[in-house]
Amino acid sequence: MYSIKYRKLIFSQLRRYFLAIQSPYEDWKGLKKDHALEWGQIKATTQNWGFEIGDKNNPTEIELANNNNHPLKIWTTNNKGRKYLKINQQYHYGAEKDQNNVKVAVWFYHSIYIMQEIMISYEKIKNYKFDTEEQKFFEYINESINRFDNLKISKNQHNRIYSWMEEEIKNMSKISLDMSWCFTGKKSETPFAEACNEVLDHYLILIKKNDNKTICGTITKKELIKILPQPLNDKQPANIEINEQNIYIEEIINRYYLTNNLFDQTSKNIKNIEIYKSSNLENNYEELERVYKKKQRVEQSQLRAKYFDNDSSNIDCAVCGRSMNKRFVWMAHLKPRKSCTKIEKKDLNVVIPMCKFGCDDLYEEGHIYIDDGIVKKNNFKSSNLFTKAMLDYVSEITGNKVKYWDGYEFKGFITNGLKRKRYCTYHYEKNR
Ligand SMILES: [Zn+2]
Repeated sequence: MYSIKYRKLIFSQLRRYFLAIQSPYEDWKGLKKDHALEWGQIKATTQNWGFEIGDKNNPTEIELANNNNHPLKIWTTNNKGRKYLKINQQYHYGAEKDQNNVKVAVWFYHSIYIMQEIMISYEKIKNYKFDTEEQKFFEYINESINRFDNLKISKNQHNRIYSWMEEEIKNMSKISLDMSWCFTGKKSETPFAEACNEVLDHYLILIKKNDNKTICGTITKKELIKILPQPLNDKQPANIEINEQNIYIEEIINRYYLTNNLFDQTSKNIKNIEIYKSSNLENNYEELERVYKKKQRVEQSQLRAKYFDNDSSNIDCAVCGRSMNKRFVWMAHLKPRKSCTKIEKKDLNVVIPMCKFGCDDLYEEGHIYIDDGIVKKNNFKSSNLFTKAMLDYVSEITGNKVKYWDGYEFKGFITNGLKRKRYCTYHYEKNR
């Protein structure tokens, strides 16, 4: 019923999705020459794929259901006696030159997101000290995802994912970066390798159901284990045949394939649909929460980068004045973020660093407020909302002059106390 092929997504593979970036680094240039996905060794292709596979001049084509009518081209190669199976993904020479090649938009989309996860974890491992090149790359990834989000594309609108990808390839080809930092040995213990190990837990998959076209996508290890009838073997790309209807596989297919036949009684029985629907809802909730948290982390990281150079991993809290490691400092909104207009969200004066040891929460909850740059206790808050320990803390910071308030020079901008005052007034009015 299902024929599934999967292989572990390794970092050197993921990196290939970014090869449109210009880099003077020799290894990077070298990669551009060969940019096909390697799907293991040739041996037993007929067993694994069910048919003979042609060579580079005569590639075999597989029709994909979710790839904008661009078939996947597969061919065999013979490199110094080692025989490999390759899958075309030539897209990074620039979209204009590449009209006839296969473009695997769905894999591209996932790669950008996975790379963002890696960069978030890398930044943390590096103690929030990215160098300029790393910061630029991270910014590119974040902007690319913002552009995707702004287009409001759902995962099964493949034509639109495809167009977004083409634009991204053009954008990438306009930037030049030294990418040497993302070359890391398999067993090396660099911070970057550590970040990759922490995040990379994904498999590329191809699923074919009955005689339908193939779906291509990614799944996590946890999901893969759920659908496998046998224990997972990481070492080799593998293929499996499953002969019974399987709700987990259906779930994955549905993620990538616009189905209008959810209520088609001929293909599924009602019980399966019910299970499918409820498990899908749970996943969506988890997914939404995960996406929300990730967005918050990215935004915080971007704000911190705009305020502070990366040469120190510590920041002074604006309210209590104590120096804290960056990961314990939150770029707090003086006016609640959800009440900010689009323009206000972009104003760097709306945020200020506050520590997670109390200041950030006390401000957010309205227990303290800022009056013209001075920290004050909010006496409108009922006294039973304060314990002795809290009162001690608040009296300690009351009267403090807020750091970075006005005329404080950061990279490329100077803080503006008048603007800050407006945001703080809004906050105070809301908490009276
Ligand atoms: Zn503080």
